[in-house]
Amino acid sequence: MARVYNFSAGPAVLPEEVLKKAAAEMLDYNGSGTSVMEMSHRGKEFKGIIERAEADLREIMAIPANYKVLFLQGGASLQFSMIPLNLMVKSKKADYVHTGQWSKKAMAEAKKIGTVNMVASSEDKNFTYIPELSPDKFSSDADYFYIVTNNTIYGTAYHQIPDTKEVPLVADMSSNILSEPIEVSKFGLIFAGAQKNIGPAGVTIVIIREDLIGSAPVNLPALLNYKTQAEEGSLYNTPPCYAIYIAGLVFEWIKQQGGLEAVGKQNRLKAQILYDYLDNSKLFQSPVRKQDRSLMNVPFVTGNEDLDTKFIEQASKKGFKTLKGHRTVGGMRASIYNAMPVQGVQGLVDFMKEFEKNNS
Ligand SMILES: *Cc1c(COP(=O)(O)O)cnc(C)c1O
Repeated sequence: MARVYNFSAGPAVLPEEVLKKAAAEMLDYNGSGTSVMEMSHRGKEFKGIIERAEADLREIMAIPANYKVLFLQGGASLQFSMIPLNLMVKSKKADYVHTGQWSKKAMAEAKKIGTVNMVASSEDKNFTYIPELSPDKFSSDADYFYIVTNNTIYGTAYHQIPDTKEVPLVADMSSNILSEPIEVSKFGLIFAGAQKNIGPAGVTIVIIREDLIGSAPVNLPALLNYKTQAEEGSLYNTPPCYAIYIAGLVFEWIKQQGGLEAVGKQNRLKAQILYDYLDNSKLFQSPVRKQDRSLMNVPFVTGNEDLDTKFIEQASKKGFKTLKGHRTVGGMRASIYNAMPVQGVQGLVDFMKEFEKNNS
C-alpha cells in the first residue's frame, strides 16, 4: 500500500524510517521477546529507552545541565494549568501574549490561579501576525512571561524571541519544537505535546530550568507538581511508555539527519517552495504577514469557499491529504513538519499550479 502525503496539523506525519523500525521491533524489542508496550516501565529495557531518549533530546537541543527534561501526560493542554499552578507563586501575576486559540485557552486556565496581564494581542486581524511587544507594558514582577512560539492554526511564528530580562520566559512550542536550533537558555520553561513534531500523542515534553521547580504550594496534587516528576525521573507513575519509545526513535532519526541545523535548513527550503509559489500565484494567497510566517503550518486561501472545497477534494484524490484549514480560518492549511519530505511539498505545489491553470 502506498503512503500518502499527510499534511495534518496533528497528530501528524512521522518519519517512515521510524515507523519501519518500530514495526520491525514490534513483537520482539531488542531480544527481550516482548514489545515495548508489554514491558515493565521499571525494567532495564525501558530504563534504557527513556534514558536514551532524554540523552538524545539533550544532545539535539543542546539543553544546558541546569534544565530538567520531563516526559508527562495530559497533552500540551494540561500545561496550561500546570504552569500557573507551579510558577504563579510570588506576585501571582503573569504576562501573556495573545496570538490565537492556544494562548486563549492558556490564559483562561491561568486566570483560575492568578492574575493574567495580556501584554499584546493580534486578535484584531484574526491572528495573522505576531504583535509588536512594548517592554513598558511588561510587569516587572511577573512570575513568568508566556508566548506560543508557533501558532498552529494561523501559521504565525516568532522569528525573534522576546527579551523578558529576569522574568522567566515560558513557551508553548508544541508545533515547532525541533524544527530548527533554538537557544534553550533564553527560556525558563519550554513545553510541547508530542503529536506535531515529536511522536505519537500521549507524551508531552517539558524542559524546565531547575530553579523554577520546588516553589509550588504544598497542597498541590503530587502528579501536577513538577518537583514530583523531576525527582522521580518522570517515573512517579507509569509513563506513556510506547509514545516515549517512538519519540526516542524520532530523536535518533533527527541525529541521523545531521541534527537541528540540517533539519532547519530542510524546513526553510520546504517553506520557501510553498511561500514563493503563494506569493506569485494569482489564485492562492497566504493570509499571514510575511515576516511572521511559520515554517511548520502554512494556511492559504483562494477567497472562494467552493473553490477551496474543490481544491481539497481534488488534492486528496492525488494523495495530498488533510489540507483543510482550521474551521476558524477556513481555506487550506499545509502542515509541513520535520517528517514531511521536500518531494511532498514540491508535489503539492506542482498540483496547485495545475489547479490554478485549470481554474482561472
Ligand atoms: C496542538 C496544540 C496544543 C494542544 O495540544 P494537546 O496535546 O492536544 O493538548 C497546544 N498548543 C499548541 C501550539 C498546539 O499546536
